[in-house]
Amino acid sequence: FLLYFFMIDFNLLAHIVKLNNSFLLSTHVNPDADAIGSEIAFYLILKKLGKEVYIINHSSTPYFLKFLDTENVIEKFNEEKHSKLFKQVDVLVVIDLNYANRLVREEKYFRESSRLKICLDHHQSPEKFVDHCFNDASYAATAHIIFDFIKQTDIVKLTKEIAIPIYAGIMTDLGSFRFERTTPEIHRITAELLEAGVNPVEVYDNIYDQSNFSKIKLLGESLSSIQLNSAKEIAYMVVTRDAINRTQADEAEVDGFVNYCLSIKGVKLALLFYELNDGIKISFRSKGEIPVHKLAQKFGGGGHINASGTRLFNVDLDETISNVIKAAEDFLQQEGQN
Ligand code: 5GP
Ligand code: MN
Repeated sequence: FLLYFFMIDFNLLAHIVKLNNSFLLSTHVNPDADAIGSEIAFYLILKKLGKEVYIINHSSTPYFLKFLDTENVIEKFNEEKHSKLFKQVDVLVVIDLNYANRLVREEKYFRESSRLKICLDHHQSPEKFVDHCFNDASYAATAHIIFDFIKQTDIVKLTKEIAIPIYAGIMTDLGSFRFERTTPEIHRITAELLEAGVNPVEVYDNIYDQSNFSKIKLLGESLSSIQLNSAKEIAYMVVTRDAINRTQADEAEVDGFVNYCLSIKGVKLALLFYELNDGIKISFRSKGEIPVHKLAQKFGGGGHINASGTRLFNVDLDETISNVIKAAEDFLQQEGQN
């Protein structure tokens, strides 16, 4: 338990924040509520301290997360407009990611920059790509790390404005408080966030119950596509380009679909194949002790023990599906033998 407190040096983070004046924040491609929420919460901390702050992301913010960006400060990366900033600001802060390639078009400018680089993140096995990585995979969300940063350093007061994006990140990364890392501590933190003024009904409604009709139509098609392997331990779903084009749904809306595969009795491992314009995105999910990030790593990806992902380019869909299922079957067998 004590170790937990020594994992992240929050005093060092506070030191970096106080000693520098300008910050560029960014997060991973296809950002989720933890990515956007953590960026906004960290932005608000820095602004409270009078800093110059930019949030520049590879992807645009999904429509159902825009309510978190109340001041409309998040910008979509534009090479001409923003690449200079990567050389100019004092500190580059990457949030909710631990592989530079998750920055996509920004990766080059991030790597080439000689400014101080830090990372705030809760994923497994970080790449060595920053000066200081404030990373601990025992955290439920990156937003949870930011909460602890505030509590342990008293850097700013926990206001309602800061509490909302933190709550959004924690709630969504925990699957609305049903995933593994839902602990008594998390519920105590949640209580504190509600005391600070968060309305959980509103946050949930904004994220999950204001969907475009297209999302629900795509969900219907995706559910129909679910298949099981012969041992009925692996369920997989395919979201084809054709279905996406027909329903006009966007990539971010598919977030959460894969969980339906895991809701089938006997299924231990779930896969979602999402056809991109130029490749395939694969989501991996597992139950209990099955470390699915190890399977994702075999395909160049990564993530968490129960939730991981990867992107493959210039591959054939059907071939990829059968290769990944075969690898998943071998993987389950290996894990079972351990
Ligand atoms: P999702 O399947 O929901 O997109 O992603 C689940 C988790 O897998 C994410 O939180 C992230 O940690 C990880 N992940 C998703 N896509 C990638 C990827 O392309 N590369 C890596 N390294 N991790 C990914
Ligand atoms: Mn996260």
